[in-house]
Amino acid sequence: MALHMKIIPVTSFLQNSALLWDDESHEAVLTDTGGEVNLLLAEVDRLQLKLRAIWLTHGHLDHVSGVDELTKQRQTLVLGPHQNDSYWLEALPEVTTNYGFPLSQSFTPSRWLQDGDELKVGQYVFQVLHIPGHTPGHVVFYNKENKLLIAGDVLFRETIGRTDLPGGNHADLIENIRRKILVLPDDTRILPGHGAMTTIGHEKQYNPFLC
Ligand SMILES: [Zn+2]
Ligand SMILES: [Zn+2]
Repeated sequence: MALHMKIIPVTSFLQNSALLWDDESHEAVLTDTGGEVNLLLAEVDRLQLKLRAIWLTHGHLDHVSGVDELTKQRQTLVLGPHQNDSYWLEALPEVTTNYGFPLSQSFTPSRWLQDGDELKVGQYVFQVLHIPGHTPGHVVFYNKENKLLIAGDVLFRETIGRTDLPGGNHADLIENIRRKILVLPDDTRILPGHGAMTTIGHEKQYNPFLC
């Protein structure tokens, strides 16, 4: 019995979408389905998984612009981000056009998420932490049992998310990372939205914004 994760980089931004699944129930979740929907669904089918939900960390196009197409192909729940990112989801047709992405319609998730919510992949529980700063509605997903944090664009290996886009706030980002993320165990693995995995311990020691 175990929780599995496969990282599938999508879009020209190489955004780390994660396929998470419970090998007992074969229930699965996709995080941050920014695009390349056929590639993501082919992997779900190849592994014979039951896709239960899409979890979204925040409203930026490289994290959400595949949701519109994916939900047309499969009936699945869309959970997150926090409602404070609704302006990004509303702007999707314009933003995807501006960046040369396949056109995405706006959508409203099945449920907005809040700090303290709990989500499940089969028997594995992930806690939702609200970490505003990169965007005001950014959430991350933490599974204590497997010491795994799906961090979106809050925190990367030895750097942090940019805060110069509309709604960004550098002081908020630093404060929320310190208060809610750096308090997790040092050996917690972090999957950032882009680039290599890291750990809480590594970031405490080497992240110039945090140490
Ligand atoms: Zn972002
Ligand atoms: Zn991103």
